[in-house]
Amino acid sequence: MIRAACAAIGASLGALLQLRSPVAAVANALAAGEDDFGSASVTVCPLCALPRGKQSLEPVCPSCRAEPPPWRAMVALGPYEGAIGSAVRQLKAGPWPELGGALGPMLATQLARRLGAMMPGLLVPRRASGSGSNVDNPPVTVLLVPVPTHLSRVVWRGIDHPRVIAAAMRGELARQLPGADAEACAFLTRKWGGKQQGYSAWRRRRRLTNTMRVSVLGALRLRLLGSRLGQRGVGNAKRRAAARPVIVAVVVDDVVTTGSTARETLRAGRAALRRAGIRPTMWVVATVTRVDLRSE
Ligand SMILES: [Zn+2]
Repeated sequence: MIRAACAAIGASLGALLQLRSPVAAVANALAAGEDDFGSASVTVCPLCALPRGKQSLEPVCPSCRAEPPPWRAMVALGPYEGAIGSAVRQLKAGPWPELGGALGPMLATQLARRLGAMMPGLLVPRRASGSGSNVDNPPVTVLLVPVPTHLSRVVWRGIDHPRVIAAAMRGELARQLPGADAEACAFLTRKWGGKQQGYSAWRRRRRLTNTMRVSVLGALRLRLLGSRLGQRGVGNAKRRAAARPVIVAVVVDDVVTTGSTARETLRAGRAALRRAGIRPTMWVVATVTRVDLRSE
């Protein structure tokens, strides 16, 4: 409630400052497919979404091989440059919920493509009859978990970007993955951890550890979600066990730099979900852009 009021105040401030929306220009550039990591011309590591050499025969990059991340996949629309970098910089500079609305479905498309490749059953309508239906498989829910934004930033920017993007992803995800349900649930809150720019990945991770926890409203949302998911398996015990929902939890952010914020969101999110009786089968990260610090 407070968060929504702060966002409204911030948006009003933006309107007072007579800021002009960059949405149309950026959306056009994105629609033209600039910088799209989904294009065949760019090969990226499936775990960190960073570009890698086309000649490499290894499935993942050396960094992810040396220290595998806690998620099974990372999906990014593109690098923090060109049209997508420009979109995110403008998104961060002002209260442009419509830009999140433009980016969300595109990110959902990329995510659906990846999840569909990992779990082909998600591409088949669950309740359809006849051959090809996956009605006998357990229900799958894709749970979008936006990275929490500190309240001061929501006030300053007039918008909670990851939350707007996650909300905009949900409908498109449900459309593209007819074999799954899609939910977006913001349940984490964040302490002020200071600015992260200029710190190494290790330092960022240390500064961010234990800065997130479940909010009061978030705990209530999770309880409702937990009971809703638990009720999907009906009938006798054997059938209920077979119908236990598979949860794919997705950390949603606008920019991933070192991955420290995504790690902390996953840590806090997993603990909060466990308390609500929800145990994701796997975690995935979806981000609009991925910063490549290797070029610096
Ligand atoms: Zn990697």
